[in-house]
Amino acid sequence: MNMNTNSKEPITPLSTKEGQGSGSAYFNPEIETMTREQIEALQLERLQATVRAEAGITPDDIKTLADVRKLPFTTKQDLRETYPFGMSCVPMKDCVRLHSSSGTTGNPTVILHTKNDLDEWANQVARNLWMVGLRPDDVFQNSSGYGMFTGGLGFQYGAEKLGMLTVPAAAGNSLRQIKFIKDFGTTAIHAVPSYVTRLYEVMKEEGVDPRCDTKLKVLAIGAEPHSEEQRKRIEEMMGVKAYNSFGMSEMCGPGVGFECPEQNGMHFWEDYYIVEIVNPETLEPVPDGEIGELILTTLCREAMPLLRYRTRDLTRVLGRTCPCGRNHVRIDRMKGRSDDMMVLRGVNIFPIQIEKILMQFSELASNYLITLTTDEENDNMTVEVELDRPTDDYKQLQALEKEIRRRLKDEILLTPIVKLVSKGSLPVSEGKAVRVVDKRKVYQ
Ligand code: AMP
Ligand code: ZN
Repeated sequence: MNMNTNSKEPITPLSTKEGQGSGSAYFNPEIETMTREQIEALQLERLQATVRAEAGITPDDIKTLADVRKLPFTTKQDLRETYPFGMSCVPMKDCVRLHSSSGTTGNPTVILHTKNDLDEWANQVARNLWMVGLRPDDVFQNSSGYGMFTGGLGFQYGAEKLGMLTVPAAAGNSLRQIKFIKDFGTTAIHAVPSYVTRLYEVMKEEGVDPRCDTKLKVLAIGAEPHSEEQRKRIEEMMGVKAYNSFGMSEMCGPGVGFECPEQNGMHFWEDYYIVEIVNPETLEPVPDGEIGELILTTLCREAMPLLRYRTRDLTRVLGRTCPCGRNHVRIDRMKGRSDDMMVLRGVNIFPIQIEKILMQFSELASNYLITLTTDEENDNMTVEVELDRPTDDYKQLQALEKEIRRRLKDEILLTPIVKLVSKGSLPVSEGKAVRVVDKRKVYQ
């Protein structure tokens, strides 16, 4: 029996630490608006507590925050080698969940969570969603994969923690998604960006205009690299703001970094992580503004704290203050992963550079595929991209192909083969989009 059908008053109050900010722009005003000095003092204290558990390091070795550099790096390989439970720092009876990400080679990696880890993770996600204006009377549809992929349960628990009605729609089945959006009055969606563009296509086919026929006001997009141009497209299609969300299973999942309403970099929560950017070859720190590899140290994780984890993601620090009042470091959108970098004829290219150019052509839809092949001498790149509208005008198509080739050459310094294909002809994935097929590997 439910005697409280019309009320959204929480039955038990939210955590005493977070969620005190109703009426405020902040979910946790005290933490979010700390000064840099306060943030750094908290980080030092938490770092000392974290290393206490690690062999060979005593808190005395960590006198300042810069001493984090004395610590060794941790890599995905370390996680693989200790598969499944070797990295655990607590007895198994204290672990309540695991997530696993499958690599392309070798053992998968396993990430363990205590009850408290899950609670802190939910806090991070709730903080993010609150930051972009979501409140308990919102309806949150999570159109991301559930299961081992952390985008499902991670957003589920975070949105519930904030107090929203949360719809675990999961990925795919766009017609059903659209029905839910309309019938439940969904105001916010989380999905991978490539899925949002797919959802919009189906809305268009069904004659549903997200601006007039839905109550949508916020999108959270993340889990895969996407360009600023792709984000702008998504915002124009859906008629709402789309905020970039960064997550990684090894850190917890989504929640690690999220854009504030300024949309000028993602705030990485420094009460939870120490953020470093290093040169991926020398492993020395790079100055703010310079691109390097993102290194993260967890500060609040119990089951599997990780010191100086090499994420392989390439990005840079944009700033450490923000007009929104949060002084947690602002990190630029990911340029890609060092493992995604394609080397063709000696030139280093990231898929996102290609996406950035393609998205500037209104004649093109959002789905594209890059294929790398080798003939006798040379590596070749073919870029297939879907046309937004069908056309028989051969001359116009040729001119468009030529112009795309020219613009791509300016960006990546070599001329790819460009193929314009009809909408719906390239593969779509329900999870993270596959943008590159490297057929050269066969010959290497
Ligand atoms: P997983 O933990 O397997 O879900 O994957 C984590 C990885 O997804 C990160 O290391 C990034 O490479 C990628 N990723 C997650 N969020 C974003 C984002 N907002 N932008 C770009 N890449 C992302
Ligand atoms: Zn901000």
